[in-house]
Amino acid sequence: MTKDSPMSSVVPVMVPMPAERPYSYAVPEGLRVEPGSIVRVPLGPREVAGIVWDGPGEAVAANRLRAIAEVFDCPPIPEEMRRFVDWVASYTLSPPGMVARMLLRAPAAFDPESPTEGLRLVEGAGPDRMTAARERVLEMAADGQAWTKAGLAHASGVSSSVIEGLRSQGVFETVSIPPRPLVAAPDPTFGRATLTDGQAEAAQRLREKAGTDAFSVTLLDGVTGSGKTEVYFEAVAAALERGKQVLILIPEIALTQAFLERFHDRFGAKPAEWHSDLAPKKRERVWRQVAEGQLRVVAGARSALFLPFRELGLIVIDEEHDPAYKQEDRVFYNARDMGVVRGHIGGFPVVLASATPSLESRVNANQGRYERIVLSSRFADAALPDLATIDMRKAAPERGGFLSPVLIEEMKKTLARGEQSLLFLNRRGYAPLTLCRVCGHRFQCPDCSSWLVEHRFRRQLVCHHCGYNEPRPEACPECGTLDHLVACGPGVERITEEVDQLFPDARTIMLSSDMMGGVKRLRLELEAIAKGEADIIIGTQLVAKGHNFPGMTLVGVIDADLGLANGDPRAAERTFQLLAQVTGRAGRTGRKSLGLLQTYQPEHPVMRAIVTGDAEAFYERETGERERAGLPPFGRLAGIIVSAATRQEAESHARALRQAAPRADEVDVLGPAEAPLALVAGRHRFRLLVHGARRADIQGFLRDMIKAGPKPRGSVRVQVDVDPQSF
Ligand code: ADP
Ligand code: ZN
Repeated sequence: MTKDSPMSSVVPVMVPMPAERPYSYAVPEGLRVEPGSIVRVPLGPREVAGIVWDGPGEAVAANRLRAIAEVFDCPPIPEEMRRFVDWVASYTLSPPGMVARMLLRAPAAFDPESPTEGLRLVEGAGPDRMTAARERVLEMAADGQAWTKAGLAHASGVSSSVIEGLRSQGVFETVSIPPRPLVAAPDPTFGRATLTDGQAEAAQRLREKAGTDAFSVTLLDGVTGSGKTEVYFEAVAAALERGKQVLILIPEIALTQAFLERFHDRFGAKPAEWHSDLAPKKRERVWRQVAEGQLRVVAGARSALFLPFRELGLIVIDEEHDPAYKQEDRVFYNARDMGVVRGHIGGFPVVLASATPSLESRVNANQGRYERIVLSSRFADAALPDLATIDMRKAAPERGGFLSPVLIEEMKKTLARGEQSLLFLNRRGYAPLTLCRVCGHRFQCPDCSSWLVEHRFRRQLVCHHCGYNEPRPEACPECGTLDHLVACGPGVERITEEVDQLFPDARTIMLSSDMMGGVKRLRLELEAIAKGEADIIIGTQLVAKGHNFPGMTLVGVIDADLGLANGDPRAAERTFQLLAQVTGRAGRTGRKSLGLLQTYQPEHPVMRAIVTGDAEAFYERETGERERAGLPPFGRLAGIIVSAATRQEAESHARALRQAAPRADEVDVLGPAEAPLALVAGRHRFRLLVHGARRADIQGFLRDMIKAGPKPRGSVRVQVDVDPQSF
């Protein structure tokens, strides 16, 4: 550094790469940057957008220092957002550059939207001669507002050449119309609901919290249909009244369009949406307008946590227990947990809502870290459904069928009353396994350790892990016998086939995430169901979440044991949550309703908890078991997945990592063992589990271990999953 280039002209820039630290760049004369500025910088042979960061950048020799190419005309990323990125990176052991990358996902948004060209009437000017068409235009524009040419032509029913003619005569001047906000500003006083006493009390408490600048976490724990949404809307109103922006996280927001309507009823405008199915242009506008503060409320999927809010003052996390909040790709994070951290860094309240809270949140409430507010009854005259198990050992379905006589009987009655039934099975496709009756050959994915799932409508066998597919053959590829392939077990397609045979006159709709037509089609189907345009709905977990189907009075769970089969300690909790959610779709409008669980183990604690409605007992039992085993939230866990092109490479790298584990009193390492899915998309996987006491510095341990271990070489990749979903 010479005297002529003072230190302040070198700044750290976080680039969207797996970089451990920001890189250093020179600021050319005449450019002004500040921490948070979004800049274009050269990186290797290309240019990328990065964020001017804080602290020291990677040291670079003066002669190798490259210069910032451009500073975007964009509000800087606020300090608390930069701290959040650092925090997430450190907690998840991800390079901060990869976390920053999630923040930089709307590249075109860094440039301001160009204003639209508009026309405005020039006072006192008039055309050389008047025609009827011209008169209409002048009348329309008389209030002095700026119009677009097309808009004005359309509104006054003339061709645009008429307008062009008037402009050439100086009757109109050209002005620029600034970009309009995507949605109107929500009005906190717009459609205030009349709350029940219980709701009002809960809402008041939330309003108090959302009315302050203090970090807090509140668990809004209310049975399905108790009005949690109406209640947390009051917290949203309180935050808006204080001039704050609000983020509402909702799993599957793309399929929960009814939520936007409800929000509109309450606030007179829709929230902005954020999810992966948004068109790129729309994403960019949302990103920009959130950064500029024009958008006050965003309802989004987990990635909305990385939007550059400039004055965020409340986060609501709806269905906080939902597994969809966990991202397991590149940066492994749980948006529920990181949402709480975001609130802590920003110093504002966080509300977690659920009818079936995660065990973690329940324990946090019990131990006083979170406040818990309970709504124990459904709104108005709606009652929770009567719930019963069907013991499949006794009430077996007809040969080749999967619906027990009891369930079919109840479906008949429901149909006769003109009400809706839902059959729930969390399995896509026709059958989870296809085999040859002659030689026993099973169809397996060539690249994964999983069976191929038959999709009959598409006439394909499909791998649900990597997407591999092949046409379903007529003959067995092993022994060549024709027409002896059998489908084993049911998927939703097969249940639909059975329903169509049993109820040929009923209107059926099948819903699953891989349906042709994508999100658009799914939305239409969900609307049709809500409007009562179907009698029997067959669906995967997609129908279990958050929907209000007023005519639904029967829910049948085809295989209530399905989620319990794997040995995961979280399986019972997950199954309980899913069954409570799906049976909660019944009886939203005061009619008597019923939930039936087909099970081979009616005495299982999960089935008992659902049938008796005694969630407390279930949570207590689960909590006790986790505590005894030192499992989360009473202990800490992290998974390390080592994958490679060959089994041998993966295993030996995993073993070497294990050898590199430091000595620690409160942490031990289990494994390596083959990962639950040992082969995915052609990569062999081994897993180490790191288990620590609650207070243990598990990140420090992992960092030391990875640093001391061998560098991944060749095809070897190491992924760290702190707080894994399954363990
Ligand atoms: P939850 O989120 O707890 O399942 P919702 O907020 O979806 O419950 O409410 C269930 C249904 O009851 C919705 O249709 C909602 O509009 C209605 N509802 C709840 N509380 C009220 C209220 N105070 N006034 C009018 N409708 C309400
Ligand atoms: Zn596969």
